[in-house]
Amino acid sequence: MEFDNNERIVTPGFTSADSETEISLRPKVLTEYIGQDKAKENLKIYIEAAKNRGETLDHVLLYGPPGLGKTTLAGIIANEMGVQIRVTSGPAIEKPGDLAALLTNLNDGDVLFIDEIHRLSRAVEEVLYPAMEDYALDIIIGKGPSARSIRLDLPHFTLVGATTRAGQLSAPLRDRFGVILRLELYTTEQLSQIVQRSAGILEISIDKNGAEEIASRSRGTPRIANRLLKRARDFAEVMDNGVVTEENAKIALSRMEIDKLGLDNIDRLLLSTMIKNYNGGPVGLETIAATIGEESVTIEDVYEPYLLQIGFIAKTPRGRVVTPLGYKHMNMEMPGQQTLDI
Ligand code: ADP
Repeated sequence: MEFDNNERIVTPGFTSADSETEISLRPKVLTEYIGQDKAKENLKIYIEAAKNRGETLDHVLLYGPPGLGKTTLAGIIANEMGVQIRVTSGPAIEKPGDLAALLTNLNDGDVLFIDEIHRLSRAVEEVLYPAMEDYALDIIIGKGPSARSIRLDLPHFTLVGATTRAGQLSAPLRDRFGVILRLELYTTEQLSQIVQRSAGILEISIDKNGAEEIASRSRGTPRIANRLLKRARDFAEVMDNGVVTEENAKIALSRMEIDKLGLDNIDRLLLSTMIKNYNGGPVGLETIAATIGEESVTIEDVYEPYLLQIGFIAKTPRGRVVTPLGYKHMNMEMPGQQTLDI
């Protein structure tokens, strides 16, 4: 996933700094995949049932904020089914012909993973419908009155789609997924396990409190936890004997200007702008975006999920508001007459 704010250390989107290790840190089987118990339990049953029947798995839609493990889960699905995975993304499939080429090159049972599936063009989506439903490709040959349509059979495949926003998917596309799974932000305890697992793979020494310190500042997101772990190791190596502890992790994180809840400068700017310029809200998303100079989709996908989760902002019919907790964190006085219309 790509966002414009790539240099932001707590961006949950994929950045170049993640590339060397992201692949090695990805769990390969369901039992290694920490958290997301509901999605995992259901998937386990669907995979087992499909395998027992000797069928391909139904199409799966994964949705949730970036960095929570959608791509990882797609890889696990392929692995558990014992098939190959082809990875692509909505914006990469420009023309119907691109998708047709991808589909005809699949082997029976393969997983086709389309990241950011909400960004497929309408014309490409049209090709996907018969492919998902009947494993068929409708091709028009010729032009004008002599044009005719022929139907090509495709291998049986499983489409795994990932999106940060299920609401933006067209209804006909959403309806063609047999399994729809929502991924949730992770708890500190789960992230701490992920940090310890990653530390083991990357041969980083870390104690339990160090792992918890990083986990509690990772905005519920494994990708951020892994990134902070790597930065904390740099500090531990230069300042200490290389072991990441609570103390040196705290120093590393405060140097990166990440506060104890994982908020960075942009989160704080967002909250303080809402408080100072708009009296704490309600204020519309577009207005916030224009004021702080970020895209509204970035705010919705990247900043908001965590701020909503920790209860610092709330959505109301008239816009976003900063909650009493948000005011408290920012050390700002909440106007007395404010009523929350949640
Ligand atoms: P998304 O596709 O949702 O943006 P990814 O699947 O690319 O997220 O996950 C980002 C990184 O986070 C992966 O490299 C993986 O190491 C880590 N990760 C994600 N989910 C888990 C999990 N449940 N357990 C362990 N590590 C995870």
